[in-house]
Amino acid sequence: MTNSPLRLLVHGASGRMGGALLRLVTALPELQLVAAVSRDGVAGGAVGLPAARMDEAPDFDVAIDFSLPEAFPGVLALCRSRGTALVCGTTGLSDAQRDSLDSAAAHIPVLWASNFSLGVAVMDMLLRHAAPLLPRWTAAMVETHHVHKKDAPSGTAITLAQAWQGAGGTAAEITSVREGEVVGEHRLRLSGPGEWLEVAHGAVDRDIFARGALAMAARLQAQPPGRYAIADLLALSACPSR
Ligand code: NAD
Repeated sequence: MTNSPLRLLVHGASGRMGGALLRLVTALPELQLVAAVSRDGVAGGAVGLPAARMDEAPDFDVAIDFSLPEAFPGVLALCRSRGTALVCGTTGLSDAQRDSLDSAAAHIPVLWASNFSLGVAVMDMLLRHAAPLLPRWTAAMVETHHVHKKDAPSGTAITLAQAWQGAGGTAAEITSVREGEVVGEHRLRLSGPGEWLEVAHGAVDRDIFARGALAMAARLQAQPPGRYAIADLLALSACPSR
């Protein structure tokens, strides 16, 4: 028996991430793009809608949002009113906006992540497992990004260091390097008596974030209402029975 594809709405469709989502979704039989929403409205094999007319969007099963904080309340309200799942990668949300994700999670499945790389999600899990096994080992992170990146250390470096420390690891020292056009590299060296262990992740292009969000969409849609993290959904099948 074949399942019909999930109907996908992309919010922030004219942006860099939106463009990647629209391009990559065409290769995924489990997802069908039905609406592409942006400030001005774009079409990419779907209904192109300006944000002002978002409530006219056709029926959909799951939304992926990579937009801006000021655009985020609109897509959250739409998902709540339609009772659909929301995968959100928009960064810079205010505390109140983060709280609104928690309130919405009582009604719909919600996944927000600051980094949709599946490799980074697994690195996070590895560090959580390793920390209690390597007591008193020191941790030193080097994160390298392109010269245009304004914040340092990166949000991902902070999240990974927190994963290690939160599971009992020692405080991690973070060094930031800004070099050429490096998309992103996070290298954590753990040192114990007479030995060291290094865990590293490198990003080659931005498509990894779009791929990660698309991989999570079908998994999230199959869950009951609640707040989810990538780690909660990673082990689930990409095509849950519906
Ligand atoms: P972008 O500036 O290229 O695109 C922004 C999109 O938002 C555009 O489509 C624009 O039309 C839309 N938009 C802006 N204002 C709007 C409004 N009022 N109503 C509706 N739509 C509106 O940005 P980008 O590089 O594609 O990044 C988008 C977001 O994703 C940012 O917050 C960025 O930090 C985040 N991001 C997250 C990850 C992750 O893994 N979580 C990875 C990369 C980027």
